[in-house]
Amino acid sequence: MTSLLGAPRLKTVRNLATPSKHLPIYQHKHNLIQAVKNSTFLVVTGETGSGKTTQLPQYLHEAGFCKKGNIGITQPRRVAAITVAQRVAQEMQCTLGREVGYQVRFDDCTSQDTVVKYMTDGCLLREILADPGLSQYSVVILDEVHERSLNTDILLGLLKKLFSSPAKASKGRSRPLKVVVMSATLETDKLSAFLGNCPVFTIPGRTFPVTCMFGTAVGPKDTESTGKCPQLLTSETLTLTKFSEIERACDLLFEKAEAIDYRYDVQDQTVEGLLILPLYGSMPTDQQRQIFQPPPPGIRKCVVATNIAATSLTINGIKYIIDSGFVKQLNHNSRVGMDILEVVPISKSEAQQRAGRAGRTSAGKCFRIYTKEFWEKCMPEYTVPEIQRTSLTAVVLTLKCLGIHDVIRFPYLDSPEERFILEALKQLFQFDAIDRRGRVTQLGELMVEFPLHPGLTRAVLKAASLSCQDMLLPVAAMLSVENIFIRPGHPDKQKEADKIHRALAAKSGGMNDFATLLTVFQLCKSSDRPSEWCRQNWIHWRALKSAFSVETQLREILLRLQQVQQDFPVETFDGNKGELFRQCLCTGYFTNVARRSVGKVFCTMDGHGSMVQIHPSSSLFDQEAELNWVIFHDVLVTSRVYIRTVCPIRYDWVKDLLPKLHEVDVYELSSVAREEVTDEEMMKWETREAAKRQPVSAEDVM
Ligand code: ADP
Ligand code: MG
Repeated sequence: MTSLLGAPRLKTVRNLATPSKHLPIYQHKHNLIQAVKNSTFLVVTGETGSGKTTQLPQYLHEAGFCKKGNIGITQPRRVAAITVAQRVAQEMQCTLGREVGYQVRFDDCTSQDTVVKYMTDGCLLREILADPGLSQYSVVILDEVHERSLNTDILLGLLKKLFSSPAKASKGRSRPLKVVVMSATLETDKLSAFLGNCPVFTIPGRTFPVTCMFGTAVGPKDTESTGKCPQLLTSETLTLTKFSEIERACDLLFEKAEAIDYRYDVQDQTVEGLLILPLYGSMPTDQQRQIFQPPPPGIRKCVVATNIAATSLTINGIKYIIDSGFVKQLNHNSRVGMDILEVVPISKSEAQQRAGRAGRTSAGKCFRIYTKEFWEKCMPEYTVPEIQRTSLTAVVLTLKCLGIHDVIRFPYLDSPEERFILEALKQLFQFDAIDRRGRVTQLGELMVEFPLHPGLTRAVLKAASLSCQDMLLPVAAMLSVENIFIRPGHPDKQKEADKIHRALAAKSGGMNDFATLLTVFQLCKSSDRPSEWCRQNWIHWRALKSAFSVETQLREILLRLQQVQQDFPVETFDGNKGELFRQCLCTGYFTNVARRSVGKVFCTMDGHGSMVQIHPSSSLFDQEAELNWVIFHDVLVTSRVYIRTVCPIRYDWVKDLLPKLHEVDVYELSSVAREEVTDEEMMKWETREAAKRQPVSAEDVM
């Protein structure tokens, strides 16, 4: 018996990919092209795997849509944009980056020749900022709209708005822009109604029945229980929540798969072993390609995936699904007042999507490793759209920069709660990105250029004005890639890694996690053999390599802005370098300030007054007695609320910033959001505010 894990142990089967005539979409090619020609907006729906994402752009290319502009296709997930572009380039027999290319945040694989461009929805949103009429496109396809990602929802509203003024929509183009909205079966009536009752094109799918079985134990979160599943496996997908869990589940499966007697669960095929393949967003693309290859004879393929496999990518031949019932999701947590990655139960509709993947080529089975009771009591009917559960700060700034001042009455497919919009306005005001009237400031115009969280951008811009961007750009880059510190599973190795990481922290002066990131970046960059350096220091080389590239790109954006913006702010500072670094961070992180309360407990100063503790991964852990004021990058909620990537500060540095957290009147901001306020009203408001304002009473103890 053989068990194969990850790594390229398969002989590559040359996939002579010609545009697939056997896909359900093929029979509708002619009608689809006509439908796109005949209307401005078109909703296309069809089962996942019917060929929407890979085929429709090729059909439109063939039909001549690229003669007067490009075809742009958005994806909510970067890995989907990359993988699909690779596939389509292969089918069209061209080099990736030439006729067919992709663009995702910090990775642009397009050229002058690119006419079919796959990209993330975030990238198209940035393009709209520079060119609101999307003049270089003849067709824009918003894909995976059922996922209801924040950026796709905003794009829908913007495109709808664009066509509400026909002059704008046709400005600078010889042919009108066509918009195709693609979705897996859900909510097509709603989409059509939203887009002026546009036509809906349904691609009839072939699906086979999937039998679903529930587990007997509660505790679906448990990765261990997936380790118990190899007995169930033939060729299947397992849906987990994040990459470390995936790696762990793969390890567990690998161990257990060794011990299985496969004779008992073969039906009509001889099975000698398992090929266990992980699939998650940040995985290297060459490894991802393996997922689509058929397994060698006698070997079963087992894909352990995050929810990326639910609709974005279709893997052929899946017969069995094991569904963990959970997803890792960015949610606004009202307990701590910020966005937090949380593991939450999936919705019933998501569970149905997951199960559906087993019935594409033949009848399948879905093992739900949670109870029927859990399904009934804990799982919501539908997934809440991202726009209703995450921070809107960045998109509200984008809308404002596009001249859309009334962000409350923007055409949302589903409106976010007003308080979320107000929260975003409040934060933008706190970062000086908008003024009291809700108008974008000069700083706001600069901030929108960076594909980073506004707070982090604020810190980078502060550093640039003080000529110390060399300290902040690497940190911003390091915080934009996946976690760089490797924590091995084996306890002895774990101790070794922890020790090395502590030594790295000490090299940066200790007691400042942001400075540790900078030190790691610099040490690795100056090393002769950086990958070897990473291996010795338990640092993720691939993540660091991305950080190098991200830093270069951020630096380029900054340089460009400094060149075009004559009055780019310049300030001076007469303190030491370490203080300068931390003070720059404070300008972006003053919304994340905490003061030590009792013992190891800190209290946040953002008005929520949450009780938090320093996460054990921080170099400040166990040093709490020496601290009074800290800033932090993010929060992890388990049974406790932990703050991560922490750095001590002085109260002095945030003293003038903290009142800003409390001085904004939410009601007033709401009127700012609705319409421009007159000078007279402003005066009244400011007088009232000044009277209300109370200084934060706390002594500087550092
Ligand atoms: P849809 O968008 O309707 O869900 P797709 O266009 O993504 O469908 O997929 C159509 C078919 O192409 C599927 O059978 C899928 O397995 C196949 N396919 C897509 N990407 C790849 C790839 N990178 N390698 C091999 N097959 C692929
Ligand atoms: Mg698709």
